[in-house]
Amino acid sequence: MPSPDTSTATAAAASTATPRPDTPSRYVPSHIAGNVQALTAQQRELIGRAAELGPAFAARAARHDREATFPFENYGDLRRAGLLGICVPKAYGGLGADFTTYVMVAAEIGRWCGSTALSFNMHVSSCMWSGFIADALEMSAEDRAEHERIRALHYRRIVDEGQVYAQPFSEGGAAAAGAAPWGTIARKVDGGYVIAGKKIFASLAGAADWYGVLCTLERPGHEGRGTRRDSMYLAVPAGAMGLEIYGEWDPLGMRGTVSRNLAFKDVFVPDDARLMPEGLYFQAATRFPHMFATLSPTYMGIAQAAYDFTVQYLRAEVPGMPPVKRRMYPTKQIAVAEMRVKLEATRALFLQNARDARVDPDKDTRMRLLAAHYTIMENANDLARLAIRTCGGQSMLKSLPLERLYRDSRCGSLMLPWTAELCLDRLGRECLYEAGESDEQIE
Ligand SMILES: Cc1cc2nc3c(=O)[nH]c(=O)nc-3n(C[C@H](O)[C@H](O)[C@H](O)COP(=O)(O)OP(=O)(O)OC[C@H]3O[C@@H](n4cnc5c(N)ncnc54)[C@H](O)[C@@H]3O)c2cc1C
Repeated sequence: MPSPDTSTATAAAASTATPRPDTPSRYVPSHIAGNVQALTAQQRELIGRAAELGPAFAARAARHDREATFPFENYGDLRRAGLLGICVPKAYGGLGADFTTYVMVAAEIGRWCGSTALSFNMHVSSCMWSGFIADALEMSAEDRAEHERIRALHYRRIVDEGQVYAQPFSEGGAAAAGAAPWGTIARKVDGGYVIAGKKIFASLAGAADWYGVLCTLERPGHEGRGTRRDSMYLAVPAGAMGLEIYGEWDPLGMRGTVSRNLAFKDVFVPDDARLMPEGLYFQAATRFPHMFATLSPTYMGIAQAAYDFTVQYLRAEVPGMPPVKRRMYPTKQIAVAEMRVKLEATRALFLQNARDARVDPDKDTRMRLLAAHYTIMENANDLARLAIRTCGGQSMLKSLPLERLYRDSRCGSLMLPWTAELCLDRLGRECLYEAGESDEQIE
């Protein structure tokens, strides 16, 4: 796949230049963020950095998919490019990217390797939640000072030592859907916390240096009665005593995320493990809902990749394939037109979502957010399905990336807390009911 154009100059040139008759023209993939002119200099530069790494990620993707192994080399590249610190505030030596910038970069990574983009999101979440999201929320002056002290340690590990964080919150019960407190418990002890419980689907299992664990703080005298307000976000080092990684990893798609299970058998962590002050995660989840929308950029990237592949395939530009063009059939042209309509509708919602993130969004913004998240997840899979149907039988051979894109794209709408079903549940309910309303009140 040719490298997508990332600089304003080359993108503009590509769209206006008339090809000389003696130079065969090639398909130029779209910029992931659409109109490059609308981007800030930092957005252009960081998306460009990700695009430069992309071809190497794509070249490794088939092997990691086949073997269900973690792409350590890709993380080496991300580390060298400074992207591990993308959402570490500049004051702490990071790149200081905001939500909008990050999701665009994540989508660019996703167009080359879905598994890398998805696990990278788990790492970056540890910086977004403790960074610009925490900055936008309310804290006592004392809590804020303590948070500054602790996050400096956390960011130093990332920026200076290139360490990586996982983000295990799923437990196989109702907690990850936001419908119950975490079953994983943290008890306060002298100098820290003791964690007990289990997590499923922990992307980066065995690859992360730290696991940012969501759990319920069990207050003395209130055992078994913790609520979602008691949520804690604690960093557990990979080598912690009592932490075990277990279970097979042989899934349909996103195989390079290596999302195995974790058991916490009375794991002690010091007070410095608090990635957010007590009570702040609940505030974040209720006041900054875009924090859960960072799973969909990966799938925006996959949608773009499925479309790009289709155009290249029909133009006979896929490397290693016989030079047989298929673009002249009207049915193919209609299919590609339909794919492009779906892709641009997806991108429009993706970009709107990217720019809408803020603390305390109004109801309309929250409804748009859920609609956008749902659309990206569902359309990515639909575009991959259309791509296979349009390109035909040879396109789904394991030697080509399309069948992997299809399998990876299938995972998006299954991801909690906002599966496709849960987005529809919430949209349907909240579009018809205002806060506090019940049917009895409607005459
Ligand atoms: C590739 C991949 C990587 C992942 N990486 C991570 C990770 O790094 N960290 C992490 O924490 N998790 C991760 N997950 C887990 C993911 O977010 C989900 O938690 C997981 O897929 C849930 O599967 P489940 O079968 O246990 O869901 P269940 O809880 O059994 O839910 C099944 C379905 O029922 C519906 N449902 C669930 N609860 C409700 C409810 N209260 N009301 C109505 N409907 C409901 C939902 O539509 C859901 O899809 C990953 C998943 C995948 C596929």
